[in-house]
Amino acid sequence: MPQTAPPAAPAYAVEAIGLTKEYRSGAGRGPVLALDHVDLAIPRGSFFGLLGPNGAGKSTFINILAALVIKSAGVARIWGADVDDEPRTARSAIGVVPQELSIDPFFTPREMLELYAGFYGVPQAARRTDAILAAVGLESVAGAPARSLSGGMRRRLLVAKAMVHDPPVLVLDEPTAGVDIELRRQLWDHLRHLNARGTTIVLTTHYLEEAEQLCDRIAIIHRGRVVALDTTANLVRRFDRKELSVSVAQEVTAVPVALRAFDAEVRPYRELHIRYRPSQTPIAAILAAVQEAGLTILDLSTEESDLEEVFLALTSETARGTDEAARLMIGP
Ligand code: ADP
Repeated sequence: MPQTAPPAAPAYAVEAIGLTKEYRSGAGRGPVLALDHVDLAIPRGSFFGLLGPNGAGKSTFINILAALVIKSAGVARIWGADVDDEPRTARSAIGVVPQELSIDPFFTPREMLELYAGFYGVPQAARRTDAILAAVGLESVAGAPARSLSGGMRRRLLVAKAMVHDPPVLVLDEPTAGVDIELRRQLWDHLRHLNARGTTIVLTTHYLEEAEQLCDRIAIIHRGRVVALDTTANLVRRFDRKELSVSVAQEVTAVPVALRAFDAEVRPYRELHIRYRPSQTPIAAILAAVQEAGLTILDLSTEESDLEEVFLALTSETARGTDEAARLMIGP
């Protein structure tokens, strides 16, 4: 058990209210507003994704929670404990897995976890070293020097290290950057398992697939501001874009007049491709227009937008992107 036990189950594992960070300028450079009044409440038990392009402010957010960066303004609470007023309690409730793979090559995984448990003041009787090693699939190499571990194993050892004091909140900064696909899936399984057992997980990623596969809620951060915050399913649904491909019997060289009102294009030479908003354009209206053009439909398929499109629209510099951002912030 940690020295100061975190309070029993609060509604939110992490809360940020007006969280702001301004880095002072370096030589000749102006100050950088890395976080600009961020309000974020991460529900207890959730698997939460913090998404955003490079420089968005994700690491700054995590580093404030990890007490590695001092905020300029606002409030941050971990498991109900204010990071300013109750720093020890806040720190005991969180485990942070950093991005870089810095591991002392001479210690074994078991020695390393014992060392960290000591560092966190976990009494011998309360240590769960073997259980943690098993939870991240490292029991077979528990006694091997860390230098002999593969990249994926090192990454899992860092996850294990962040868990020695049994924190209810686990935060991972880009956990699978540079990890190959198979190991990434293994790590995903471990994280899902931990989440199923009740650990709240917060991760930053710019692998959209990772966020879509793992996270139940997502915040998209752009230039220090939260530009979208919703369940993963809602975020994709709210984007309200679909693409319809229609194969026709006739050869088509230009978009028929009947279809000019739609965002349509010809794919040489027997396919029409139409982008539309399901909430505004019923698919039946498009199909009726295809028939009105005298075309015989042979086959059709639709494709929904995925998180990647949502992300690009929200963070792109184009006017269209800005419209999408505004619409998503307001909601459907
Ligand atoms: P992300 O993790 O989303 O890539 P960061 O939180 O690392 O974003 O960075 C947010 C902004 O703050 C960027 O403009 C970055 O250059 C700046 N920044 C980050 N750390 C520092 C620092 N120690 N000093 C000055 N500026 C920084």
